[in-house]
Amino acid sequence: MSSDRPIDFLIVGAGFSGLVIAEQLSNAGWKCVIVDKRPHVGGNAYDYRDEAGVLIHPYGPHYFRTNSPRIVDYLSRFTDWHPVEYQVKSFSENRYWTFPINLDTFEELLGRPSTTEEFESWLEEKREPVELPKNSEEVIVSQVGRELYERFFEGYTLKQWQRHPRDLDPSVCGRIPIRTNRDRRYLREEFQALPSEGYSTMFQRMISASPGLEVHLDLDFHEAKVRWPHRHLVFTGPIDEYFDRCYGPLPYRSLRFEHESFTAEQLVERESISGKRNHWQPEMQVNYPDAEVPFTRIVEMKHATGQEIDATTIVREFPEAWEPGKEPFYPIPAEDAKAAYRRYAELAENEENVSFVGRLATYRYYNMDQVTGMALTEAAKLIERFGAATHA
Ligand code: FAD
Ligand code: UDP
Repeated sequence: MSSDRPIDFLIVGAGFSGLVIAEQLSNAGWKCVIVDKRPHVGGNAYDYRDEAGVLIHPYGPHYFRTNSPRIVDYLSRFTDWHPVEYQVKSFSENRYWTFPINLDTFEELLGRPSTTEEFESWLEEKREPVELPKNSEEVIVSQVGRELYERFFEGYTLKQWQRHPRDLDPSVCGRIPIRTNRDRRYLREEFQALPSEGYSTMFQRMISASPGLEVHLDLDFHEAKVRWPHRHLVFTGPIDEYFDRCYGPLPYRSLRFEHESFTAEQLVERESISGKRNHWQPEMQVNYPDAEVPFTRIVEMKHATGQEIDATTIVREFPEAWEPGKEPFYPIPAEDAKAAYRRYAELAENEENVSFVGRLATYRYYNMDQVTGMALTEAAKLIERFGAATHA
């Protein structure tokens, strides 16, 4: 294989992590090449208009949210924002429930109006207090008791992770807020919005704002590292893959997505369910915690993007076992998996001139804002270490 001219930084993976680092290093004057084995940039946050013309998130719904003004300021250089209060429902025992659990959910359970005070005293009776929840079962049962835990969390979590909530970090189910007021937002963070023209447009602007950056798609790390001799490598793919899985593969969960599009005509008969013209379901996401349903959620992104279009597309999400060749969508947030990761992390520490950045390279269940922050921090460290480029 022939090699191209030497470069400063080879960046593997053109998702959030890789693109942020590439933008920062290119603007510091360094010659960067970014590669991705997929045919597009954006990693799992990639979006596109499907055949029906609907803007969809093909790798699962990506709801941008953050408490960090620094991250918003940085990304706002490449996008405007479409504010969204992400709202979800849960579908269990043949009916829709308000979710995350709040006072409306409680009223649905009782079948009559209630108050925050009544709900709080009901919870007081039901919850099984634990001082420091050690796992995802304890974190929910200690807040709402078993009945609501079993209805909304146990079956969903078993499907999603193929593990009992007892065998997952408290942070997994602990991500979901529990409220006794009428706040229906799925997420807690202060800033909740989508890039107004989509993630892919934002990523293209980041690339345009990266002087001299070369982007090569459909190209694997193994080919790229031979093709471009480099001073430093930034790796954002799975850390075990980088080390040829020498300690065996790390555990991941994968997903299969089933897309279905509907015309305005087909949607007429859904109006009584969705409550809205030209929509298939009542909210952008409906979770399916019941064990007999094989998927975990149905997402209708049009609710969140606000796209003005008659058609719609829904995506059903089926959790799957991961095996080499499938996308490793989720690292497993559990002690045994983290112990397996730590062996690779030790190898990574001794690797000279390589940075491991992002969700897969650091084996963390991180959101987009968190990986953006991680990438900005790593880029600053690299710029400090290598100084300003003199040859740009
Ligand atoms: P990735 O996006 O995974 O990018 C890594 C890139 O590396 C990929 O494009 C991959 O093709 C490439 N790559 C891997 N190996 C190689 C190789 N050997 N050679 C070349 N290229 C390689 N976050 C939120 O903030 N909000 C959400 O609502 C949200 N929802 C999510 C839903 C799902 C179903 C999933 C899976 C994740 C979700 N996330 C969400 C998390 C979000 O996807 C990540 O935080 C973010 O995309 C991570 O960016 P990254 O660059 O670290 O990794
Ligand atoms: N979860 C659940 N029931 C739900 C929604 C979430 O049990 O209706 C649990 C499940 O374990 C899930 C975790 O909470 O993996 C986090 O949910 P979130 O929707 O944030 O997951 P993600 O979008 O990251 O897949």
